Amino acid sequence: MLKRNVETNDDEIFETVTSSGTPYYKFYAITEKSTEKVYVSSFQEAEDVVNQLKSKNSTNASDLGIVEKYETAKAEFKDVDTCVNELYKKKIVYTNPYKNIGKTIINEPSVSTNLGITLIRPVSGIITSRFGIRSRDNHKGLDIAAPLGTAIKAACAGTVIFSGNGAGNGYSGYGNVVVVRCTDSLVILYGHCSEVNCRTGEQVAQGQIIAKVGSTGISTGNHLHFEMRYNGSAIDPQNYVYN
Ligand SMILES: [Zn+2]
Repeated sequence: MLKRNVETNDDEIFETVTSSGTPYYKFYAITEKSTEKVYVSSFQEAEDVVNQLKSKNSTNASDLGIVEKYETAKAEFKDVDTCVNELYKKKIVYTNPYKNIGKTIINEPSVSTNLGITLIRPVSGIITSRFGIRSRDNHKGLDIAAPLGTAIKAACAGTVIFSGNGAGNGYSGYGNVVVVRCTDSLVILYGHCSEVNCRTGEQVAQGQIIAKVGSTGISTGNHLHFEMRYNGSAIDPQNYVYN
């Protein structure tokens, strides 16, 4: 019988097929990290699928392979477009919502936007500084004082687009900071943390502990700086939580 996982040539196949009397089907598997994902009937189609995924910069492009198959049963074949759609992995670009944003971008505090989601309070504590114009600067968030090490819970579920020391990473002054993309429009920043408990790229659930209260960065005491950005503009958190 034909040995699996051994390279064969057409003569051997022919020999095996004719001597055993069992019909074998020749087709192609497209593999991702050596796991067979989809099957096509010709090598040309397999090559076409891989090339299309490469030209689309699919993130798995370098993990793809083509394996010739000889089986007694045909696999379910898919057309090239279907294979490309099923295998395509889009590169996720984490955009920094704070980049290229001027100083004064505060929305009218009284204007409330429908976020389409409900937020929970990330910490309980005393509000020490509200959103809006303060004596020296525009305050783009809400400050909530709480003891050092108090758990900060994610106000909404989402993707962590930054977690770590903000200095030099586009979040200077915020100290240790976690930035979570909650929806296509909404990003929430948690600043001045003593430590962060999630990683960039991670999915976090609402209520999950993502950091601890601290006073890192430009800060005068232990507090959470809670900042909400809607399509890049700071909006008043008290229209949604702590209201
Ligand atoms: Zn603040």
